[in-house]
Amino acid sequence: MALVKDRAIILSTRPFGESDKIVRFFTVTSGKLSGIAKGAKKSQKRFMNTLEPFNQVRIEYFEKATSTLVRIENADLEESNGGLEVNLKRICVASFFTEFVDKLTKEKQKNEHLFDTLKTILKSLKTIEFTVTDILYYELQMLEHLGYLPNLATCVHCGKDLSDAEKLYFSRERGGTLCPGCSGSVPHRQYPRGFIPRMVTLNDARIDHRASRHGHADGHEYPRGGPRVHEAPTGGYPLAGGVERATRAPMIAENAKGFERLGTEILEDFVGFHLAVELKSYRLLKRVTG
Ligand SMILES: [Zn+2]
Repeated sequence: MALVKDRAIILSTRPFGESDKIVRFFTVTSGKLSGIAKGAKKSQKRFMNTLEPFNQVRIEYFEKATSTLVRIENADLEESNGGLEVNLKRICVASFFTEFVDKLTKEKQKNEHLFDTLKTILKSLKTIEFTVTDILYYELQMLEHLGYLPNLATCVHCGKDLSDAEKLYFSRERGGTLCPGCSGSVPHRQYPRGFIPRMVTLNDARIDHRASRHGHADGHEYPRGGPRVHEAPTGGYPLAGGVERATRAPMIAENAKGFERLGTEILEDFVGFHLAVELKSYRLLKRVTG
């Protein structure tokens, strides 16, 4: 029974018995784990308040051959959650992404990219108010790291490459876009022109940032403050009703809202259908961002 040292993000905690705590944490090298922290509830001194949700810690634990529950020996704070408590929205966004990681990964499933993304989110949230666009961006990023990124490049039925103008039909069952021809035979939802290409841009923004900020695109480093994609869409993004509006300044915010509403819908639909998990934090998140 060797002592394991790792870096981890605390996902959740709950009291256990008189004085202990059960802690779920996501590590760099072993993915998600659950552990018991003896005396953590009774004596805060032992862990110095390090075992709190959203904290990033250097953790030491013993694995037990007979149990999936590890025994947490020590935890040193590396990045505290201080700054998240200033408003409910920050807490809700943090809760949503930690629950996303918790519910969509299996125990001991290593995913370093997912760890880095969660770390970036929690750190950024301490100083930045996330827009719905930011939330969509990071949700897409996490889906990609989990291997569930929807296909927004080709037709999921016949494999044809799609031009931006053809990206109108989305099949949640098949997990991606359909060409106009296949849309006649596969159930789908139709989206306004320009919406799906903009979702693609949102996801590509990450690669652009990475290449320009770090000079390489090997997938190991991510930009710190997120995408910051708040600029108005060019070329008159049509609203959900399909009504083309002039791109006057007062319309910009409305356009962004239209995009965010559809983006939330398409991901909700896709995640709900394919991943079949209920995220407790999601309803509250929608309420505070809506
Ligand atoms: Zn097709």
